[in-house]
Amino acid sequence: MIRSYKFRLYPAKQQVKVLNDTIETCRHLYNDSLGERNADWDVGYWEQQNLLPLRKQENKYYKQVHSQVLQDVLQRLDKSYQAFFRKIARYPKFKRREKYNSFTYPQYGGFKFKDGKLLLSHVGSIKIRMHRISVGTLKRCTVIREIDQWFCCITTDDGIENNATGRADTNKPVGIDVGLLNWLTLSDGRVITNRLDFEDHAKKIKRLQRNLARKKKRSNNREKARIQLAKTWRKVRHRRDDFVHKVSKILADEYTFIVFEKLIIKNMVRNHHLAKAIMEATWGKLRLYTAYKVERRGGQTIAANPNGTSQKCSRCGMVAKDRLDLSVRTFECHGCNLVIDRDANAARNILKMGLEQAHAEKQPILVRQRISKFASRKQEAHVLGCG
Ligand SMILES: [Zn+2]
Repeated sequence: MIRSYKFRLYPAKQQVKVLNDTIETCRHLYNDSLGERNADWDVGYWEQQNLLPLRKQENKYYKQVHSQVLQDVLQRLDKSYQAFFRKIARYPKFKRREKYNSFTYPQYGGFKFKDGKLLLSHVGSIKIRMHRISVGTLKRCTVIREIDQWFCCITTDDGIENNATGRADTNKPVGIDVGLLNWLTLSDGRVITNRLDFEDHAKKIKRLQRNLARKKKRSNNREKARIQLAKTWRKVRHRRDDFVHKVSKILADEYTFIVFEKLIIKNMVRNHHLAKAIMEATWGKLRLYTAYKVERRGGQTIAANPNGTSQKCSRCGMVAKDRLDLSVRTFECHGCNLVIDRDANAARNILKMGLEQAHAEKQPILVRQRISKFASRKQEAHVLGCG
């Protein structure tokens, strides 16, 4: 199974310059190659790779970067074209300096571990803090710039095809209702409260954004404002990821079959309230992280249609005529006299639908793979910092 580990790097001053230069060279290559493919649609990855030696002769900067790193830039571009052709992404864009923040050694050898440091070809040996041990053979190494901090993402393969058994294990099923009060309510009655509050951050981000807009283009002050804003976003991201990792671990450790509601993207896009928008993105992340963690342990996650889950009785199935007002926190059934917490009722309905869905699907394996693919793609985008 392919896994990624992210570690913090502590490059020396001179090394920071080399890393920045490498990113800049890669960005130029990316944009130049995009321009070429723009102009001539017959040009593909192989044509551009064959052109690399010539580029190196003409431009001394290309010589200062490991050749596989340059090849990986072309791979990245090719991937974005493929995504565009498969209609899952927009047409690739030229990258501004702020938007291009990483480069990749696609093979072991270009990067190595030596004397407790990370040895990068054409860069040198960089201090690294390994807060945990990676398992498996080393595959790739992506160096990432996050404003003033540096990280590396090491991809490993432990050689095991898949830990999963390949079938839906419904031994420990759970349905999850995502509440408006920013809670998770589980079908077994458990509630996971959310201590995240992004109101203050949202205010700060808005203020910094206005501040940035007032600054003159290409001025030093503008750059300072941009960095300040980016740092605030980073804080939000770190807090969110920390929370999401903790909660998804709890879920994945305890349940083997997890049903979420399907996300309704339309509503998400319309939300102009920044703090709420961040929260909604957090729920999205939670689903993805839970999916890959559960699958790693051999379980399955499913997305069920959320329509009507709050009006239907989870015991007898009778549907209440009126939509429950949001202030009413308990659900009372007129058919079987069930009295239950409103969110718990919804969570039970979600679980029911997920189980029915899993039984209806003749090949649960396919469902699992689909989610797994999605999760890993998003996951990769996340670790590469381009998500
Ligand atoms: Zn009932």
